[in-house]
Amino acid sequence: MEPLSSSFFESLMLKLLFLSTPVGPLGSGIGGGVELTLLNLAQEMSQRGHQVTVVGPVGSTLDHVSCREISGTWQEMIQNNHRDTPIILPENSVLGNMWDYARKIQSDYDLMVNFAFDWLPFYLTPFFEVPIAHFISMGSITDAFDEIMNRVAIKYPKTIGVYTRSQGETFPFNNICRILGSGLDLSLYHYCEIPENYLAWVGRIAPEKALEDAIEAAARVNIPLKIFGKVTDEEYWQTIRQNYPHAPYQYEGFFNTVELQEKLGRCQALLMTPRWVEAFGNVAIEALACGVPVIAYTRGGPAEIVQDQKTGFLVEPDSIAGLVDGINHIDQIERKQCRQQAEADYSLKALGDRFERWFDELVEN
Ligand code: UDP
Repeated sequence: MEPLSSSFFESLMLKLLFLSTPVGPLGSGIGGGVELTLLNLAQEMSQRGHQVTVVGPVGSTLDHVSCREISGTWQEMIQNNHRDTPIILPENSVLGNMWDYARKIQSDYDLMVNFAFDWLPFYLTPFFEVPIAHFISMGSITDAFDEIMNRVAIKYPKTIGVYTRSQGETFPFNNICRILGSGLDLSLYHYCEIPENYLAWVGRIAPEKALEDAIEAAARVNIPLKIFGKVTDEEYWQTIRQNYPHAPYQYEGFFNTVELQEKLGRCQALLMTPRWVEAFGNVAIEALACGVPVIAYTRGGPAEIVQDQKTGFLVEPDSIAGLVDGINHIDQIERKQCRQQAEADYSLKALGDRFERWFDELVEN
């Protein structure tokens, strides 16, 4: 029999209800990195003996963890909202339906964990009897969201978690954010020592990710760029295709983790070109886990992940020349160091320890 981990003795066994993002089913990729963080955390918490149930839109897929699928209309993605965009809820909102379900069954749980970057769960917080932990997966986007999050942060100060310090700094309640990072099931990611002659770009294809910068950099060095990820803004993608008819890039598609890591692992470097304050950038740690150096703009999460000149290069934001310089020096990076950083900082154990401590504190109060 496996020996019990030390966390078994230190932590209470909790009944946890995870409420997923309402922009699409878990596993679809529409929700971006928070889908992977939720899946990994659900897996790790279950593994530690906690009872985890996930609530998500119909079609959500999850191995080894019970999932309650809820019907209804998905929320619009809010990445392109303006500061003064009002709160929008569609008719028969899946977000509303998920939280209605949570309200009915709340007494069966010790803690709810909200993964939706949306107004409603924050608004509803004071009306619940069970504590709610809010894991915020993006930087500040609208005033209306900031206002409701701030209200909850002031009234329930320990309940707000974020990925990174720079993400937290975009909010008025920055000083009380719990920084939780992310983590991976490293057994799924295989180290690749000898790369092939291509670069990679991974993520939702949407304006805030500035894929065009990576295409431009790849064109300047004349190395093929393979693009992996969900097209969540079709118009943006078509504009890119028109603007770069001859650039050496190839859209590969959207893959599950096992397939993605295999293709990502063989590239020379991952390019990360966020135009917004990237909250974390799960793709950075996925690349590192495969031994792939990351060349990223010094903006948001990647700037806290990449160790400049050791596991990649941090370059001036929006500078194509900076990306090109990083690509030209990629041989200086030892791929083993990348894998080692992932193992040291981004294992499921590290992720689980941070969240478990947070959950324990919330339940004990
Ligand atoms: N992703 C994936 N398959 C693909 C491309 C991307 O599953 O083919 C996932 C990737 O694993 C990561 C997410 O898409 O979890 C992108 O998340 P990230 O944190 O980098 O950015 P976000 O979309 O949250 O802004």
